[in-house]
Amino acid sequence: MTVRTRIAPSPTGDPHVGTAYIALFNLCFARQNGGKFILRIEDTDQLRSTKHSEQKIFESLHWLGLEWDEGPDVGGDFGPYRQSERTQTYQDYAQKLVQAGHAFYCFATPEELSQMRQEQMAGGGTPKYDGRGLAISTAEVESRLAAGESHVIRMKIPDEGNCQFEDMLRGTIDIPWSQVDMQVLIKADGLPTYHLANVVDDHLMNISHVIRGEEWINSAPKHQLLYQYFDWQMPKLIHMPLLRNPDKSKLSKRKNPTGVNFYRAMGYLPEALVNYLGRMGWSMPDESEKFSLEQMVECFDIKDIHLGGPVFDTEKLDWLNGRWIREELDEQEFRKRLVEWALNDDKLRQIIPLVQGRIEKYSDLASIAGFLLSGIPEIDAQSFEQGKLEVEENRKVLQYSSWLLDSIHEWDRDILYRCLNSLADAMEFKLKDLMLPLFVAITGQASAPPLFDSMVILGPDIVRARVRHGLEKLGHPSKKQLKKLDKDYQRFNLALS
Ligand code: GLU
Repeated sequence: MTVRTRIAPSPTGDPHVGTAYIALFNLCFARQNGGKFILRIEDTDQLRSTKHSEQKIFESLHWLGLEWDEGPDVGGDFGPYRQSERTQTYQDYAQKLVQAGHAFYCFATPEELSQMRQEQMAGGGTPKYDGRGLAISTAEVESRLAAGESHVIRMKIPDEGNCQFEDMLRGTIDIPWSQVDMQVLIKADGLPTYHLANVVDDHLMNISHVIRGEEWINSAPKHQLLYQYFDWQMPKLIHMPLLRNPDKSKLSKRKNPTGVNFYRAMGYLPEALVNYLGRMGWSMPDESEKFSLEQMVECFDIKDIHLGGPVFDTEKLDWLNGRWIREELDEQEFRKRLVEWALNDDKLRQIIPLVQGRIEKYSDLASIAGFLLSGIPEIDAQSFEQGKLEVEENRKVLQYSSWLLDSIHEWDRDILYRCLNSLADAMEFKLKDLMLPLFVAITGQASAPPLFDSMVILGPDIVRARVRHGLEKLGHPSKKQLKKLDKDYQRFNLALS
């Protein structure tokens, strides 16, 4: 059997270290077995998928040196590798399931389904699709389809018994069918859901092993059933342990920066980040802590993965990165990497207009512009006391700004200005007052060049991390407060880039 593995990211946000982690293990397993590693873009969620995010996924994986053999940008014999270009294929396969009696049409409106769920919950049950579409006669289905009524296609699920499936690391997993919903396969917009598209593509792309995060375990019964309905052989499944914060909760950007580009912007070496991700749930046979991608590929054995939640701890990453810098870069290489990172002409060209008019001698430069090259500023709750706003207001500003900045894709001065200006309007604050907590969180100092220009130079990953860090220093809102803030924020309905 030719080993073929894949990662299938959805381009709906910044490339996550979790994606790089899963990519790394897929790549190692494929290379170790003389197989192929494929990149497929799962962009069936039209509202959330963007080309920008797809591009950033490519860039960050290239930067890490996790190269794929087939994918949307490099081609291959099993394309297209972007699900939005395969819509008809999914339609055809869904039709086959309907014809074979494994799937059915459902015309229930979202309102009807929400009422169904409410009634189930009121009766003490767990909300679940009740199979109402199955009761519609073929003749009625045909006439409603002919009349153009909005519909979805759902898969049938056995009424009783358990689904058993094999995971190469976890052995047999047993999930009662009563916990599995009659999954929508084709949505009302005619596009497939993840489940249908993922199974069809894994089959058509000859994927032999599906290595993905453990959050997908509960999807496996549906997938296995789809393979049975189609009479296809299912790839072997391997569910990797989830990355965790040091407090063992699921890795989240609230507690740890999670974007690959953050680590790049902070000046970590790609080799060190890959090395660190390789240690998440796996170790070298001789337990050595520092190893290259090539060494990992050579020694990798999927059976050695341990399932205890691996902790992504930036302090350990710092230590490892330091070792890479000291032990692997000679002076010339160090110089080259430093220049590539930030000490280059492009960067200087951006910085000079901001500082030239503000200094009296070159030696003033470091104190004025040092924050443009440093990491997370050292601030505390008192740092925010200098402005007009109360603590609670500062906290709101940072929380709203954090959400707002997360949603800005085109990171340019005018757009940043427009967005923060509309936030100030919505909060009924002067822009100047709203900017102060941001200024403190982002620059960490009392005087600095203009903030919007500085934000452009720092880039989205560092700015977002600094704003979140400011929020942490002020004290994150409680869960209850957060809910209320989220509601208010939605009401602001801020115009985005
Ligand atoms: N599109 C899914 C994701 O975003 C892929 C999951 C899988 O590997 O099956 O992670």
